[in-house]
Amino acid sequence: MRVVFLGPPGAGKGTQAARLTSKRGIPHISTGEILRTAIQRQTPTGLEAQGYMDKGEFVPFEIVLRLVRDRLQEADAAEGWLLDGFPRNLEQGSAFEQLLAEMGQSLDHAIFFDVADEEVVRRLGGRRVCETCGDTFHLEFSPPPVEGTCGKGDCRIIQRSDDSEEAIRNRLRVYSEETDPLVEHYRSSGSLQTIDASGAIEGIESEVDRICGSGP
Ligand SMILES: [Zn+2]
Repeated sequence: MRVVFLGPPGAGKGTQAARLTSKRGIPHISTGEILRTAIQRQTPTGLEAQGYMDKGEFVPFEIVLRLVRDRLQEADAAEGWLLDGFPRNLEQGSAFEQLLAEMGQSLDHAIFFDVADEEVVRRLGGRRVCETCGDTFHLEFSPPPVEGTCGKGDCRIIQRSDDSEEAIRNRLRVYSEETDPLVEHYRSSGSLQTIDASGAIEGIESEVDRICGSGP
């Protein structure tokens, strides 16, 4: 089974990706993971990527695509894979389609995790972290034992600037500008499956299972 997960930050893709890949025995592939591994292994492409990162620059897409190609050709991906967070725009989607064609593969499903901005703000905006010990909390889902502290003494609980409402809304806007055209492309080509990702984890999981069927 070859599947791509699409959806904004906070839509729950990571949780569902972990569940699906462990049930199916296929690798959960993200560009972050591919980059880290290639750099760790000091592969030629990994070293090239590291050169850009050392300079504080983005790794060019052409290099990312090469890393994706190499990753998809590894033994554990022979029976399928799940790509999470890639491709993320129309240009990447076209290049990726071409790559799959060259590899004699095709995408089974592009699954879009549809969730309202307000719900993402609720999920991500409630995150808190203890400045001192690093413990994480959520005001609604796993509140700290004592208001404002993790209970371990002189700790102080803060909201990371990444988790501020303004930062979240900004990420959502960037995501939708980049990814909407890709979602539309998958919709018109008939490979798009949309999941209502606003509910509970278990409900979303059964939706994913329904789409992906029970085969390998
Ligand atoms: Zn603490």
